[in-house]
Amino acid sequence: MAHSHDHHNGGHVHHHGDHPHTYSQDPSAHNARMQSDDAYREGAVKQVEHDLDYYQVRMMALMNVLREKGLLTTDEMRRAVEEIYGQSPAIGSRIIARAWVDEGFKERLLADADAACGEMGVDTTGINRVVALENTDTTRYMVVCTLCSCYPRQILGQPPTWYKSFPYRSKAVTDPRGTLKDMGFDAPDDVELIVIDSNADCRYLIIPQRPAGTEDWTEAQLFQLVTRDSMIGVGDPLTPEQLEEAVQASGQAT
Ligand code: FE
Repeated sequence: MAHSHDHHNGGHVHHHGDHPHTYSQDPSAHNARMQSDDAYREGAVKQVEHDLDYYQVRMMALMNVLREKGLLTTDEMRRAVEEIYGQSPAIGSRIIARAWVDEGFKERLLADADAACGEMGVDTTGINRVVALENTDTTRYMVVCTLCSCYPRQILGQPPTWYKSFPYRSKAVTDPRGTLKDMGFDAPDDVELIVIDSNADCRYLIIPQRPAGTEDWTEAQLFQLVTRDSMIGVGDPLTPEQLEEAVQASGQAT
């Protein structure tokens, strides 16, 4: 099975082809670390700036070629960028809240997530296939892409940085419970953790358990409880108490 990478610079390995790229091989970076943390940080910032410059130049050149050849218009590029920025975990939260209040919708979501997303006006055609998995009292799913960063962006927006990081991608598989603990989440001992490897052919949406004490809540209220992490399977939705605290905290901030 061919696993196509949907990005090239988010992972820990990147190849620049004929581009001279010496920072990672430069022993002086390590010496600098020995000398002082400040010098090390300065070097790290330089590398990020260096990489950014390179990719920006490369992107501009590519855009110009596409424009000149008449393959893409400026307007089409603008719309594509706007679409990416329009994607957010709130789309997924709407779907989960609907599944919590509408048993029939949840059944359809589990049977054919692409069709169920379509019902909600969410276009998942950019993903080969979306599969929804439901957490229970005894089973929890957590999603990882061990190879790169496959993620249901049309539903959850752009993946968080940790999702693309090598530590998460490797440790999630060998020690899921420890990985969750690292992330500040203690999975109950009596729950079986099932790690799901996301890939180019199939992306996953976790249906977390509906929090206790929300039996009379409306779909719009429930929506506020659904966190991004709960849909990746690395955390729980907010409890009503946590939502209350968050609302109060944001009120104080303004
Ligand atoms: Fe991937």
